[in-house]
Amino acid sequence: MTSKDILISLSKKIEQKSYHHAFLINCQNQIELDSTAMEIGRLIYCPNNSLPSDNCNICTRVLNNTAIDIAQIGDGTSTISKEEIKNLIKKISLTPLEERGIKIYIISNVENMTIEAANSLLKILEEPPKNTIAILKTLNDSKIISTIKSRCQRYNIISEVKKLESNRLTELVKSGQMVELFLYGQELNKLDKKEIREIVEDFYHNYTLRQNPALSILTLELMQDLQSKKPTSICIENFLIKISEV
Ligand SMILES: [Zn+2]
Repeated sequence: MTSKDILISLSKKIEQKSYHHAFLINCQNQIELDSTAMEIGRLIYCPNNSLPSDNCNICTRVLNNTAIDIAQIGDGTSTISKEEIKNLIKKISLTPLEERGIKIYIISNVENMTIEAANSLLKILEEPPKNTIAILKTLNDSKIISTIKSRCQRYNIISEVKKLESNRLTELVKSGQMVELFLYGQELNKLDKKEIREIVEDFYHNYTLRQNPALSILTLELMQDLQSKKPTSICIENFLIKISEV
């Protein structure tokens, strides 16, 4: 999903009062990751559920990093220790001070947690204190233990440009136009592996898993191939040949 899609979907859930207490946001771009996490916090906190910021007192404080009931840890690079998680838990267990009555904690780059820190965090995700919301950010969710992942509403952010590519791949696969699909494969081949991985990941989550599970294993294999040292052109070609046989 793009950041915009995530915020629109979350805004609807807030309106229906049915949103999750923990979010895990995966994005390969740190700036986009940070800004989306901040917007999620702001949106949950804004009494008017306003998209975008309506410059109310609360929105302004969140965006200025001065909202007292929002705690943040992690600088994006250093390891996060058990001690830091414990201190964070202490902070969010206190009664919220602002009228909104919610405590939000944001952890940057949760993939940098030690195992002990991850286990402490897991406990609080399993039994969250009343009215607390967790926003966990990561550049690489494959490094996060599955028990944490399963406790969170997961969002994978893709840029607008790559979303268009993923949509195009979906349309071509859906329509079964193999010649066009092979030509498109050659276009994809011009991008770098990391970019192709992002596109294929989005294709996997939004198309194969939801609409065409028969292609799930082949798509997963492609994702694995793209992590290996195999030349990109071979990874893509293998995938296209296999799906043309399905
Ligand atoms: Zn507001």
